[in-house]
Amino acid sequence: MINKLLQSATARLEAAGIESARLDAEVLLAHVLNCRRLYLYVDAAKNVSPAQATRFESLIMQRAEKIPTAYLTGQREFMGLNFAVTPDVLIPRPDTEILVQYAIENLSALKGDVTFADIGTGSGAICVSILKYVKNADAVTVDISEDAINCAKFNAEKFGVDDRLKFYVGNLFEPLRGQKFHAIISNPPYIPTSDLATLQEEVKREPKIALDGGDDGLNFYRRIIEEAPNFLCEGGFLAVEIGINQASAVKNLLTKHFTDIKILRDLAGIERVIAAIF
Ligand code: GLN
Repeated sequence: MINKLLQSATARLEAAGIESARLDAEVLLAHVLNCRRLYLYVDAAKNVSPAQATRFESLIMQRAEKIPTAYLTGQREFMGLNFAVTPDVLIPRPDTEILVQYAIENLSALKGDVTFADIGTGSGAICVSILKYVKNADAVTVDISEDAINCAKFNAEKFGVDDRLKFYVGNLFEPLRGQKFHAIISNPPYIPTSDLATLQEEVKREPKIALDGGDDGLNFYRRIIEEAPNFLCEGGFLAVEIGINQASAVKNLLTKHFTDIKILRDLAGIERVIAAIF
């Protein structure tokens, strides 16, 4: 019975130290049954097939080993869109929606066709959702991981924006020489290397190259802020996600070439995005 299955799976995940035990059990069972979570309640008294039970059991065992739920289901919702994710990419975070919303508002305010670059695409959550919501935009996106680019391509096709997006495998701006954009958007790796060992077990399952920002976590901001002026139209903007307590250091890096520096907080009140005009 669905009800009983969920109860025992929740108890096992709790015992394994998973905070969101009930939610994760529901998400995984809904995934196996290919239904919405709501139906787990509507159909609480129904039985599942033996094959479904075995599949659910295997997912609960993996979740108890701290494998992120999104890697088990192969998907995560971001900006109202259900993105495909693989262990090759960072799982999109709700905090990053602040960056995307800023980009959507400010690109929409520009007249005519607009073009932006997303540096470090991962799943493509950032560039694909901006393109989905800003119809007069096109974009390029770069990632050093070919597997990430493949995941981003899949998502661009899934949401029908692949005709407005170019993909490059490469190191930051390197494949973009000679191109100019109205905006540069990035959620670069920003965790200080020495903090990596202290991250949640689930986060340790995510690609280290998507997280490791070097000794002080700021390596990618230095490089992006130094190079961005070569790739921005005058009056264009740079918007990046930042980690906890990084706002003032990143702001200092920006003051040389940028004006109108804005810091946006996430829902927890943490400074999460910094944006500036070139
Ligand atoms: N927000 C992620 C975390 O805290 C880090 C993402 C990144 O380094 N860009 O786990």
